[in-house]
Order: sequence, then C-alpha cells, then structure tokens
Amino acid sequence: MSLTKSTTAFAEAPWIQGLPSPYFKKKSHIALREYVKKWVADNMADDAEEWDDSGNADPELFKKFARDGFLVPFALGVTIPKKFHDLAGNITLPGGVPADEWDHFHDYILIDELCGCGTQQMMMANYGGLAYGAGPIVHFASEAMQKRFLPDLLLGKKRICLAITEPRAGSDVAGLGTTAVKTSDGKHYIVNGEKKWITNGIYSDYFTTAVRTSGKPGDHSGITFLVIPRSEGLETRKMKMMGGGASGTTYVTFEDVKVPVENVVGKEGEGFKYIMWNFLHERMTICYVAIRLCRVCLEDSVEHVKRRKAFGKPLIEQPVVRHKIANMARQTEALQAFIEASIYQYSQLSTAESNLKLGGTTALLKAQSTITLEYVVSEAVMLFGGMGITKGGAGERVERIFREFKALSIPGGSQDVMLDLGVRQQLKLIEAQRAKSNL
Ligand SMILES: Cc1cc2nc3c(=O)[nH]c(=O)nc-3n(C[C@H](O)[C@H](O)[C@H](O)COP(=O)(O)OP(=O)(O)OC[C@H]3O[C@@H](n4cnc5c(N)ncnc54)[C@H](O)[C@@H]3O)c2cc1C
Repeated sequence: MSLTKSTTAFAEAPWIQGLPSPYFKKKSHIALREYVKKWVADNMADDAEEWDDSGNADPELFKKFARDGFLVPFALGVTIPKKFHDLAGNITLPGGVPADEWDHFHDYILIDELCGCGTQQMMMANYGGLAYGAGPIVHFASEAMQKRFLPDLLLGKKRICLAITEPRAGSDVAGLGTTAVKTSDGKHYIVNGEKKWITNGIYSDYFTTAVRTSGKPGDHSGITFLVIPRSEGLETRKMKMMGGGASGTTYVTFEDVKVPVENVVGKEGEGFKYIMWNFLHERMTICYVAIRLCRVCLEDSVEHVKRRKAFGKPLIEQPVVRHKIANMARQTEALQAFIEASIYQYSQLSTAESNLKLGGTTALLKAQSTITLEYVVSEAVMLFGGMGITKGGAGERVERIFREFKALSIPGGSQDVMLDLGVRQQLKLIEAQRAKSNL
C-alpha cells in the first residue's frame, strides 16, 4: 500500500517519505497511518479554529472516536491484550489493525496522525483523560475492578481523568495532601482536598485520584490511587489556559466525598510507584505530539517562504531564511531519530526492564522534544512575520502551536525537572550496573 504524503520538504518523517526504516515493518503500520490520516481530514481538520475560539470541545467528536474503536488503544497504549479487547466487545480497531499486532509503533502513529491537524488540543480533549487516567486501572487494578470500569470507558459510555497535581504539589508529587480517611465500619474513604490542572476533568465521570491514606505531605509512602466517581461533594471548574482551552484543564475539589474501599487501585500505599510508572508512557506520548507539531511548523513555514516575496524575490532565496529552515529541520530530524530509537527500545524490553533502564532517557527525550518544538515554532513565527502572530490565515497553525507548546513542556514533568531527572536516573543506573559487575 502506498502512503498519502505531503510533498513539502521536511513535512513528513523519513519512513513516510519512502526512505528505508528498520521500524515500520508491518503492513498494519501503514494501514493505521492511512486510516487515521483520512479520519482526521474527514472529522477534525476544519474545526480547530472554532474549538480554539470557543475553548470548548465538541462532544460529537468523542462519540466518533468511540464509534470507530479509538478509545481502546487510547486507554491501553502499546499492547491490546485479548482480555481487554473482549471487554470492549472486540470492537474493530482503527485501520482494522488486529489486536494482537498492536505495538509501540502503532501507538506512535496514532498520536502522530491525530496531531496532523496542527493542534494538540483536539486530540488531548479526547485522549488525555482516558490515556493517563485508565492506565493505573489497566496495569494495577484487580480483575474485578477492571471489569467494573473498563467496558464503559473503552466504549465511551463514561469518561475518566488522572488527578495528581494540587495547588501546592506539582513537580514534587510526594507533597500531595488530599486525604482519604477510612470510615469506622471500614467500608468507605472520606476524601478531602483539591486537584489542579486536571486534563479532561470537566468532561469526566471518574477521577483516578492520588490521595494520602497515611503519612504527611512530603512522604513517598502513604499515597494511594482511588477511582472516585463524580458524586456529592466533588466539584469541577474549568480553568482558563494560555493555549489548548478545549482540552478541558480543570480545578477539582473534594469535600467529604464518600468512596467505596473497593475503588482502591492495586494496593493501598503503593500509589507513588504507580504514578512514576504511569509517567513513562505519558512522557513518550508528549514527545509524539511535539515531533508532529515540529513537522506542521516546517510544512507551513517552507510553503510560506516559497510563496512570500520581499525585496523582489521569494523569502526562500535569502540565505538567512534557508539557514533558519535548515536549523529547524536538522533539529526535527534528530528528534525523530531519538524518538524512533526510544520506541524501539521500549518494544524490545519487558515492562520491568523498561522501567529500570529507560526512565532517564525518556526524561531527556521529553525535554529534548519540548526544547526542539520551542525552537522550531519560535523560528516559524519569525518566518511568518506579522502573519505568525495573527489568528487565522496562512500562519494560523503556527500561531496556535506557539500558544500551545508550553502545555507540552510543563505537564508530565516540567522540562527543567526532566533534565535533572534524566541525569540522576542515568547516574543511578550506571552505578547499579557497576556494583553488579563487581560482585
Ligand atoms: C496543560 C496542563 C495539563 C495538565 N494535566 C494534568 C493532569 O491531567 N493531571 C495532573 O495530575 N496534572 C496535570 N497537570 C499538572 C502538571 O503535571 C504540573 O503542572 C507539573 O507537574 C508542574 O508542576 P507545577 O505546575 O506545580 O510547577 P512547580 O512544581 O511549582 O514547578 C515550577 C517550576 O519550577 C522549576 N522546578 C521545580 N522543581 C524543580 C526541580 N526539582 N529541579 C529543577 N527545576 C524545578 C521548573 O522550572 C518548574 O517548571 C497539567 C498541567 C498543565 C499545564
């Protein structure tokens, strides 16, 4: 099957351009890519400006994602085990990809193409809550709990989000102070506290919430994940953000919310471990969004500088302009290679090995992705001149990405924290390997 592709320089990843790749080997990689590209063109491409202006997501789009089987890979990520596909009634997956073939590269292709419309907010409005909020249930909850929650989530009958961050605890997750205290009969928890910047919170029926069941803010132990249904005492308020308003960034308050003890994910007190585990996939997905937005910036910039004339000739004929494009392109291609190599490493290692060996490089990759996007979009705005800071018109996508890129640099681990963590993790790993080889 041949691939539909942009004919603009640097707009597509090398494997789409037809260059050899060791990674995209399956026919289903190509089938998925073609399917999602067309799906985006048919269902998402024209609505970005409207969503941006209103700050509201269209609920009809979520229903289409559910209808066409997208929610299953959104929730499950890099593999689609039969037992979970069964819970979704064996719904056909996007592009007809067989469930047992779904891998890390399908996960990447899916997100990459969903961001091909040139904004991350339309994808995040439908993906962010489910992908990050269902993860702990998929990986750590009991089978009974999975059967209770997942069918409705996978089929779009209910929505979920991940609620960790608090007004006084962001990067320092262990600082969280939302409390869950058991009732005297041991059947419920009473939850009190606040969560801030929760993606999709406003749309959600369930909140996968990190609460403190023991200890005090600052302790790594005593954190527990509870799935809290929208119920009495739980309030949500939409927050006004710089870009990507439709993704539904939300302030959540819990006032004496009663939650059955059966809603604990995995083991009480193990929440910190689950949070760190969940971050790895979230960080990779943010990298996939960033690389695609870099390519959107390149595509629009290259077309613009070929078209726009100044001083009697197209901008592309100015060596300084070509240097700008060159610097944007070389950094994008380097990021692409880093991302593809990392995806491959994840695909070859067990989950336990990935956690141990890839945490540091994933943190550095997340930082690299957002640093690259910040550079590329800033140069793109400059190349567009006044059109780069004008809403609508040829610079529309670039202008929007400029407002959105910090919404990738900060969530899932702020850029500065990622740089620091990347080094600390890598040093720790090498020390552990040295200690082992000296035994
Ligand atoms: C658009 C958006 C969506 C989000 N979605 C969710 C969600 O769905 N669920 C959820 O739970 N949270 C979500 N968050 C919250 C996000 O995870 C936090 O904003 C992030 O972890 C940073 O925390 P903070 O904002 O409190 O910044 P702080 O922790 O106050 O840090 C501020 C800055 O200080 C610096 N800094 C802090 N610590 C260090 C350090 N150790 N080393 C070096 N520099 C440091 C960094 O520059 C950092 O950016 C979202 C945030 C945004 C903006």
